[in-house]
Amino acid sequence: MGILLRGGTVVSSQGTENLDVLLTGEKVAAVGKNLPAGDAQAVDCTGMLLFPGFIDGHTHFDLEVCGTITADDFASGSRAALRGGTTMVVDFAAPDKGETLARGLERWREKAGCGTACDYGFHMTIDDWNEGISREIEDMMAQGVTSFKMYMTYPAMMIPEGDMYRALLRLRETGGIAGVHCENDGVIRELVEDAKKNGRLAPSSHPRTRPAPLEAEAVGHLLRLAQLADVPVVIVHLSARESLEEVRAARRRGQTVYVETCPQYLLLDDSVYGSPDYMEAAKYVCAPPLRKREDQDALWEALRNGEIDTVATDHCSFTTAQKRAGRYDFTKIPGGLPGVEHRGVLLYTYGVSAGRISLANMCRALCENPAKLYGCWPKKGVIAPGSDGDVVVYDPAANGVISASGQVQRADYTPYEGWKTAGSIAQVYLRGRLAVDHGQVLETQGRFVRREKGRL
Ligand SMILES: [Zn+2]
Repeated sequence: MGILLRGGTVVSSQGTENLDVLLTGEKVAAVGKNLPAGDAQAVDCTGMLLFPGFIDGHTHFDLEVCGTITADDFASGSRAALRGGTTMVVDFAAPDKGETLARGLERWREKAGCGTACDYGFHMTIDDWNEGISREIEDMMAQGVTSFKMYMTYPAMMIPEGDMYRALLRLRETGGIAGVHCENDGVIRELVEDAKKNGRLAPSSHPRTRPAPLEAEAVGHLLRLAQLADVPVVIVHLSARESLEEVRAARRRGQTVYVETCPQYLLLDDSVYGSPDYMEAAKYVCAPPLRKREDQDALWEALRNGEIDTVATDHCSFTTAQKRAGRYDFTKIPGGLPGVEHRGVLLYTYGVSAGRISLANMCRALCENPAKLYGCWPKKGVIAPGSDGDVVVYDPAANGVISASGQVQRADYTPYEGWKTAGSIAQVYLRGRLAVDHGQVLETQGRFVRREKGRL
């Protein structure tokens, strides 16, 4: 029994090779030339690219923001993920202030326990700091939650920087790693106050109150704390060229810094906030905000040369009705974009097919690096004997068009409406089982992945 994917081109971080892939049970049993089918079902993959299942290291399903809950819960978000070739997501468990990490994790495991279609793990949010939480870091590591999240903006989530420093020291002791949302909150608050005082309440004020230098300042600030604590950190959703300069400076000092960006920062720019239709502009409100064309170019270049390690989505979806809450006040627009469904096809089309990155670059950013960084390599992130049977069969000849009308994610729009795609995802296998066939998501059961300590 099993499935033999025959005649396809296997993509890895090293490049491509024409190889057959045999899936048996939940695993990849063999990879090689002219593998005998035996009693396996042979599937002709001639002309197809075979990627390891994509990993999205940054999603927010079933999360409350601005008094409303994301349009996608774990069931719908994970189906959308799978449909887009993502066989594993790492979402964010967020305890309330005063709650233990254990209780936060329990609540998030309950949320995800109901019908998550792809495999999943959690980053644990540190939005409070005390002796108990410090002790709990070790418990989290033991339970396979080996990465953490800290915020330098959003008062509900931030911790004082002394505590942030303490947390970094603790992560150094335990081998955990933190991803940090870097924006200078204090100055953003002043800019928002000025905008409000002057009656500038349209969505166009959103990017103006969160300009790139305030992201870069926070990145530099965090990296100096990490230098002192002597611990690697992850800069999540890096969006600006100036932030990259801070990362380069830290790396020149000898620090280990990992960088994530997102398709929206590679592909969209802040001109969308100028739309006279406020509801149209509100669809793009997220933090950090979309930047300039020059930033996109810098991010693509950094992705190509390996300065950016991963591309995740920061999927945090709201319907246009939910976004409408902020039509008279941009600060009340729930922030976030839908994207978990389209990352693979966007990176292939506007990255690989457009000649900006190689297939190996794409495989590193979507598969290998997130698997290593988040401690599930080589179980995930590579097509190799013994790895999970997670395979994306990509048909580079089956061009398509992205449209909200055909999507599974529950937002009623996509920022990429009408965008043409070079090729599309033909099938997705999750742990050896066919999970998606030509856009049809079949019934599958995602599993919690206990992760090890991660590093690239
Ligand atoms: Zn996020």
